[in-house]
Amino acid sequence: FIALLLSSSTSVQNLKPSPKIAPIEQKVDSVLSLMRLNEKIGQLVQYSGSWDATGPTSSQGDQHKLEKLKRGEVGSMLNVTSVASIRETQKIIMEHSRLKIPLIFAYDVIHGYKTIFPIPLGESASWDLDLMQKSAEIAARESAASGLQWTFAPMIDVSRDARWGRVMEGAGEDPFLNSKIGVARIKGFQGDDLSSKFTIAACAKHFAGYGFGEAGRDYNTVNIGIHELHNTILPPFKAAAEAGVATFMNAFNDIDGIPATGHKALQRDLLKGEWQWEGLMVSDWGSIGEMIAHGYAKDKRHAAEIALNAGSDMDMESYAYEAHLGALLEEQKITMNQLDDAVRRVLRLKFELGLFDDPYKYCDEEREKNEVYTPINLAFAREVAKKSIVLLKNDKKMLPLSKDLKSLAVIGPLANDKDSPLGNWRGKGTYNSAVSLLEGIKGMVGKNTKIYYEKGVALTVPSVELGTNQFLHPLKFNTTDASGIPAAVAAAKKAEVVVLAIGENAYQTGEGRSQVDIGFAGLQNELLEAVYKVNKNIVIVLMNGRPMDLSRVSQIAPSILECWHLGSESGNAIADVVFGDYNPSGKLPVSFPHHVGQEPLYYNQKNTGRPNSLNHVTFSGYRDAPKSALYPFGFGLSYTTFEYGEITLNKNVMTLNGEIIASVEVKNTGDVAGEEVVQLYVRDMVGSLVRPVKELKGFEKIHLKAGASTTVNFIISADLLQFYTANNKWEVEPGTFNVWIGGDSTTEPMKSFSVVE
Ligand code: BGC
Repeated sequence: FIALLLSSSTSVQNLKPSPKIAPIEQKVDSVLSLMRLNEKIGQLVQYSGSWDATGPTSSQGDQHKLEKLKRGEVGSMLNVTSVASIRETQKIIMEHSRLKIPLIFAYDVIHGYKTIFPIPLGESASWDLDLMQKSAEIAARESAASGLQWTFAPMIDVSRDARWGRVMEGAGEDPFLNSKIGVARIKGFQGDDLSSKFTIAACAKHFAGYGFGEAGRDYNTVNIGIHELHNTILPPFKAAAEAGVATFMNAFNDIDGIPATGHKALQRDLLKGEWQWEGLMVSDWGSIGEMIAHGYAKDKRHAAEIALNAGSDMDMESYAYEAHLGALLEEQKITMNQLDDAVRRVLRLKFELGLFDDPYKYCDEEREKNEVYTPINLAFAREVAKKSIVLLKNDKKMLPLSKDLKSLAVIGPLANDKDSPLGNWRGKGTYNSAVSLLEGIKGMVGKNTKIYYEKGVALTVPSVELGTNQFLHPLKFNTTDASGIPAAVAAAKKAEVVVLAIGENAYQTGEGRSQVDIGFAGLQNELLEAVYKVNKNIVIVLMNGRPMDLSRVSQIAPSILECWHLGSESGNAIADVVFGDYNPSGKLPVSFPHHVGQEPLYYNQKNTGRPNSLNHVTFSGYRDAPKSALYPFGFGLSYTTFEYGEITLNKNVMTLNGEIIASVEVKNTGDVAGEEVVQLYVRDMVGSLVRPVKELKGFEKIHLKAGASTTVNFIISADLLQFYTANNKWEVEPGTFNVWIGGDSTTEPMKSFSVVE
């Protein structure tokens, strides 16, 4: 070993430490002790490499990366995808660098790699944790089969403003739901064993506060008090850390004046200190450098100093660490201990992934060919997609439609769109590869049903060609060409029922895609009104990445299906629901407002001192809109109905470390089998801080045959009632608590219990 230390041509590959003999920490130490300063700093550098199997191009940027790779001064690459290009890039390190420390390859696998699942917000509407774990597991298998080892997912930013474009990427407005779903996805990506070649490292992002950008403007400043930060934003991250997520990503925004990337109290003190999390913190893209634009760092050197001190381990595309950490060390602006700690975190992950044993472990062309985009994976994507659909309205019981309808008009800009359902952040999902709604419907109806398809209006102007790179698509909506409307009206007139597919295309949501308007862009409203004039039997199929303003739609359409961007199997899954092969069971993970002016709108708000309308001027709300949501958090209908019995509590008083069991009988009172998400909400009636009017504290998805009933029990343990109190501690405060159980967040009535010392 000493000889190894001395030999300059030594490769750590030669160490071959067996995982069973030496624990990972020892191996990390041995590698670290071999490393020179430039190699240590190199481990903290992450580059993007959008190159193919031939490797870096002749561009100046790529040539710089190539040189650094050869010297072993890069720790990780993102956006190098495919086995061939990953192998080629790994080879550069292996063949040229002194220590041959393998690279980790990362990519944004957000809702599937090639088999595309519903966007995370849509999938969250399933409230089905096993399902979401499995879809992440499949996404991991496909990614790993394509050579990748690390995804930048899940996004667990609580987000409450529909104007924010990235609302599509998370699990919505509630911290409890975000925690549960985040952990399910992490387990799915990582499995029990990171060293398996079927799993990849996950990344909890964006730490922290990114979903709270003022007014829903992307990258915007976050003004939030310390208690709200702890009670609302941080719980999903704490849950992720406890679940053993391998990596975190910090964020672009500032919180109360401190950029998240330079936030020492959050990263070094809380996450790595108090929570004792030992994983790797990667910066967001260029976010170290962005501290200069924030006006928080004078230059890149200063930015690097702030970020490393704050606990940001890896520099994604800021080129700040590579240029300045050496000098900062000399000037004693950072310490060797800090640097070593960051490097350790990178090495630890590489050992855990098994990359030191075999840097090409994930490079298997056979697997890439046979295990990606398989019929089995697609079948599962259909399963997930149908379970993500939310039935918002079904007044005339028009749904499900009969497969023997004589005629059906399928209308709308999204009706035969094979791309929008893939949504933004669609990994390697091929352009135009989704099953369109029209295709799904055609595959489902009998031969005797006449289908009239009309697009009606185009959503965007024709010159806007969509593709896979979300950043390349400025959206220009079609606001002038209404020439297709008469044909749509004619089709609607002829048909018994109209299925109208409207909403948003894939690139109306996602990063940098905030909007002031959450209505129907272009001429979609005109199309809706024209069709409505001639046929009132309208089923609205919504495809969208954010809560939309459905006020007009909900007035006139008897049936509305919220279908998000459902992924590869979108059209088949929607047809499953439209024709009743699957009884919808989704519930909204976000509130849908009456008007964009209500945003941010969320059920778990705090009361003001004037919660109700004492007289027409004194309540806290708007005078020209309701205070509540049009479709509230947790809401979703079924083709059957569920009746809830009275809540029973096994006792009315519990101690600070006790628990109470709350039970309710749920009965399927309709005539078909169905699934229901039974939800438990609690309110802490008086606190040392103003508490939310209701908080989700449990949920269970049950399946009931027609006429069947079951009792659902929730254990309310005292720790579930903890919050970050005025003492700046997580604790339960004795007092009265109200408890509700029902099918959405507006459910009444409730019971009460008390917590005593
Ligand atoms: C996004 C991250 C993403 C990263 C890498 C950034 O712009 O904010 O969520 O993981 O790019 O693609």
